[in-house]
Amino acid sequence: MVQKKKRTVCIIGAGIGGLTAGALLAQHRWHVKIFEKESVIGGRALTLDMSSLTINNYKEMLANFQMHIPFSEPSLEAIFQNNLLQGYHLDLGFHVFGGGITDNIKQATPDAFIDMIRSKLYTAKQGNPYLFATTTDKIKIIPNLLRLFLSGETTMSQLDNVSIKDMIKRYGNGKTKIILELNSRLITTVNNLDFISAGEVLRTQKKMKLRGVRYPKQGIKQVCRTLAESITKHGGELHLNNPVTKIHIEGGKATGILAKGKNHCCDAVVSTVLVQQLFTIAEKNHFPKDYVQHLQSLEGTGSLCAYYALTHVDKKVIGKNFVFIERNVGVDGKDAAGMVDLMSALPESGLAPPKQHLVQSYVICNPKEAQHQKTLEKLKEILDAQLENIVPDFRQHLKWAIYPAIRHLDGVAKTIENEKPDIKTPIDQLYLIGDCVKAPGIGLNCAMNSARLLQDVLIEK
Ligand SMILES: Cc1cc2nc3c(=O)[nH]c(=O)nc-3n(C[C@H](O)[C@H](O)[C@H](O)COP(=O)(O)OP(=O)(O)OC[C@H]3O[C@@H](n4cnc5c(N)ncnc54)[C@H](O)[C@@H]3O)c2cc1C
Repeated sequence: MVQKKKRTVCIIGAGIGGLTAGALLAQHRWHVKIFEKESVIGGRALTLDMSSLTINNYKEMLANFQMHIPFSEPSLEAIFQNNLLQGYHLDLGFHVFGGGITDNIKQATPDAFIDMIRSKLYTAKQGNPYLFATTTDKIKIIPNLLRLFLSGETTMSQLDNVSIKDMIKRYGNGKTKIILELNSRLITTVNNLDFISAGEVLRTQKKMKLRGVRYPKQGIKQVCRTLAESITKHGGELHLNNPVTKIHIEGGKATGILAKGKNHCCDAVVSTVLVQQLFTIAEKNHFPKDYVQHLQSLEGTGSLCAYYALTHVDKKVIGKNFVFIERNVGVDGKDAAGMVDLMSALPESGLAPPKQHLVQSYVICNPKEAQHQKTLEKLKEILDAQLENIVPDFRQHLKWAIYPAIRHLDGVAKTIENEKPDIKTPIDQLYLIGDCVKAPGIGLNCAMNSARLLQDVLIEK
């Protein structure tokens, strides 16, 4: 039997999108070469070992991902000078996985096992946790939810240009209204219900069902590390500190890339670079003008996160994930939604030294608000008040707190105005994947699902 020649793919970026694509293609006789500009894998799904970072390294790493620290307690200088971060591992900012992730990981690395902490969604009052959707709630809302979950792709496409606000007016009362108001915000990382596409929310919600959230033990890096191991096991190459400076395009076809002064020819080029920045490495004049304008006009999402290092957390709440909507706080969309995660506070999360607990939280805002100090102050108050609701005496147990602000949490917001591009581009053999493109789910799931769509295109069945 004649063996087919291995084809080569150059993937730009070793974030979760690039690594998932690499792992999937390497299993199917593609020779995978991944080029990453940073010295570490993970992209925005990065876990930092804080024991070995200097304050300048930390600030630089955050800046590379369009983040900064507007507040901390004590000052960031004092935190570093007093070695308060020894033994801590921090993701770039708050991370948890929504439903659908296990299936994505299984597809990309069938033999690997990633140990995850799981939690349902809770709300809290004065230190007491309550399920966000109780069994009685679920029974009451089942007729409405069934109608939504059973809708097919045609119905969902028709709802793509309908705002979730309009849908809530039609279907939403009582608990269904609150669930739709909160979930649509958490699913899209957008507070303004006028901009959120009902079709997108339904599509994602259908995949997630009403499952809770997960967090990998040892941080989000576990997933990236497992994917990278699978790539190298199948003969793939990972080139770190290797920024791609040019995508070669000839006669409407991508033929290779330039990285660190060296040309690499290949049969497919896959970019995970933020689509707004694609034309810093691909010459605009090869693409239709309206395509260039469209990609450059797309908006991302933002948030303010908080990390709290606590010396004590009550058993009632540790290991649980809490959701909230704070009403009328003057942000875009008036109300602000977010999460406070205490799965990360469990000793088995591996994020804090012994007898210490790390709590992570975030509140949604838009990219402009993430740069506006007054808005950030308001959002910080919300995060502190939400933690106080869950751990009333948290200030007595607080060792330090760091609040990272993010201008680019999702590459492209899933809103009615922002139509995400397809993975196929107008250039032959050039594909876009990651959380900027049209794929089910949000954030990490969107990036992984886009890699699965690429697999369908590149692998002959
Ligand atoms: C603070 C924060 C919190 C988040 N929280 C969540 C969450 O709770 N749940 C969730 O689902 N999602 C969350 N997200 C979003 C999630 O992290 C992203 O959707 C996901 O990591 C995107 O993966 P990606 O591969 O598409 O892009 P990226 O991770 O951005 O990967 C792109 C990679 O390309 C590299 N690169 C760029 N240009 C070049 C070049 N020229 N040459 C070589 N390499 C290049 C970059 O360095 C990067 O490593 C969060 C994001 C942030 C920032």
